[in-house]
Amino acid sequence: MHVNTNLTVKQLKLLIFKMIRPLIQVPKSVIENIPEADQTEKKVLETEYNYFFEKKWSEYKDDIGNPLYKLQIYNNTNEVSGMFTKGRNECEFCKKKHTDNCTFNFEDDVILQRVINKIRDARDFSVNIHWRDKGQKANLKSFEQAPIVRKLSSVPE
Ligand SMILES: [Zn+2]
Repeated sequence: MHVNTNLTVKQLKLLIFKMIRPLIQVPKSVIENIPEADQTEKKVLETEYNYFFEKKWSEYKDDIGNPLYKLQIYNNTNEVSGMFTKGRNECEFCKKKHTDNCTFNFEDDVILQRVINKIRDARDFSVNIHWRDKGQKANLKSFEQAPIVRKLSSVPE
């Protein structure tokens, strides 16, 4: 899925949540305080999103922090060969060298294009869904390898 880079980080998070929403179970009680007349798709989606991602889950104290998933930036920095190991160039987002994916962690009101502009060379910017328990909360077959990709080459600058 390609997304518009004028979206904010929060809009992307909601878009991803909307994409996976058919796959997960949400307790009915989450939206029971919204009057039925006000239950638009947008309102329901945002309320459910807040339930999973805005509240503190004391039972999930790890780096995911919620029952569902965290977002990661797919690490496609260029590989560099060391004497005995293969490494990667410094990650533009956290300024560290690492071979695993980077945490997608930006303020909600940041425009995606500003995030993408951090990338030095011509690479795609892909966001992956890192699920807490594969297959536990959702049927994930079609999503496990489905990053959200924006081709840098198609971004006018
Ligand atoms: Zn990083």
